[in-house]
Amino acid sequence: MAATELDQIVNLCKRRGFVYPSAEIYGGFRSSYDYGPLGALMLRNVRESWIRTMVQQRDDVVLIDAAILSPPQVFEASGHLANFSDPLVDCTKCKQRFREDHLTDPKLCPNCGGVDTFTAARAFNLMFRTSAGPVEGAGAEVYMRPETAQGMFINFLNVLQTSRKKPPFGIAQVGKSFRNEITPGNFIFRTREFEQMELEFFVPPAESAQWYKFWCDARLQWYIDLGIPAEMLVLRPHDADELSHYSSGTSDIEFKYPWGWGELEGIAQRTDFDLNQHAQHSGQKLDYFDQATNERYVPYVIEPAAGVNRAMAAFLLAAYDEDIVNDEPRTVLRLHPRLAPYKVAVLPLSKKDTLTPLARTIYATLAERYMVDYDETQAIGKRYRRQDEIGTPLCVTIDFDSLEDAAVTIRDRDSTEQQRVPIAQLTAEVAARLGF
Ligand code: ATP
Repeated sequence: MAATELDQIVNLCKRRGFVYPSAEIYGGFRSSYDYGPLGALMLRNVRESWIRTMVQQRDDVVLIDAAILSPPQVFEASGHLANFSDPLVDCTKCKQRFREDHLTDPKLCPNCGGVDTFTAARAFNLMFRTSAGPVEGAGAEVYMRPETAQGMFINFLNVLQTSRKKPPFGIAQVGKSFRNEITPGNFIFRTREFEQMELEFFVPPAESAQWYKFWCDARLQWYIDLGIPAEMLVLRPHDADELSHYSSGTSDIEFKYPWGWGELEGIAQRTDFDLNQHAQHSGQKLDYFDQATNERYVPYVIEPAAGVNRAMAAFLLAAYDEDIVNDEPRTVLRLHPRLAPYKVAVLPLSKKDTLTPLARTIYATLAERYMVDYDETQAIGKRYRRQDEIGTPLCVTIDFDSLEDAAVTIRDRDSTEQQRVPIAQLTAEVAARLGF
């Protein structure tokens, strides 16, 4: 499939209730989005797929959920107060702002074409600051976390003591982060409020390089396993001048967005930087004593850091397709079943009372295990198209014969093939087709 135009996805997301512009009834709040009924389900599926692979299927990773608001000490220690900034330039001609490192030509304004019209670059700190408690001012200021990572570092000892894990082991977290981005945009790709899925994997220093390689490969494979074609993904090592203040090596997993290749996830070698910084600033010993070797050491950290929203955008873009079915064009989201908002749609052929009780029973049975849509209005062909457009892998149709032969029709989203299945075997058939 050719690179999908972003507009097609944005329109579909709005039309079908995946993503709405935020505060729309008040004229909108720039570059901020609300997730509708289908978007909320899909975000949850992205998160759950990540937790399933990164935590559930690994006995060496545990999950935490740390606070969003943090005292300044955390970000003094982490280096964010001093270093977490982007270089901001203003065009003196058209008054637009840009991130200097995003300009193709640092002298040319991409908005008005002005040459040498930029101000000198200023470091703009990306953290949101607010105050806690009734009195504003010194001592009351707190920061909204710009990444979830620090929650893992400051809880390193707590987790070590309560989980009985030892390096190599990881602490994972999924949650909101906030960055006062200079140039948010490209739909949900870059927003000021977003969700991250991060793993801090603590290893003996000598094993750092091998685990870095492991996580680069494993993270790339995660996207492929969830349906993104390998040719839309690339692993790109950072150049030395791109590295963050804490990193001794970083690779980005990049995705082929409609506007070009861009970051989907970063995998960084953070060395012992964070634990050392927090140890120094807090006065606590943040290290590990290995009883087997009688050695005390500060673990090195490998960090795969992904975005929930950015991943959702990539999954939608990769899944979007248009084809011809029964001589008519159709739009279909070929989403992996784990990511699809609904796994099954239950569709009684008619709204007549005779079919409703059976259809409702089938809905209730499937809904025990899966997110299921129930739709009884409009012609059946139209209903199939609606489900194709939101990526529902399977439709189950109940017709008047179902009352006689105790069987229903299953229709597959991708092939549109239909098969008659006994109701007694329906759950097993659905599970076999979905793969879970
Ligand atoms: P970029 O270079 O695109 O600003 P970054 O390198 O600063 O990203 P990281 O700090 O590595 O990003 O964050 C890890 C992941 O979090 C990113 O790969 C992305 O998926 C997600 N992410 C970061 N910033 C945003 C944002 N403003 N909006 C949506 N997702 C984001």
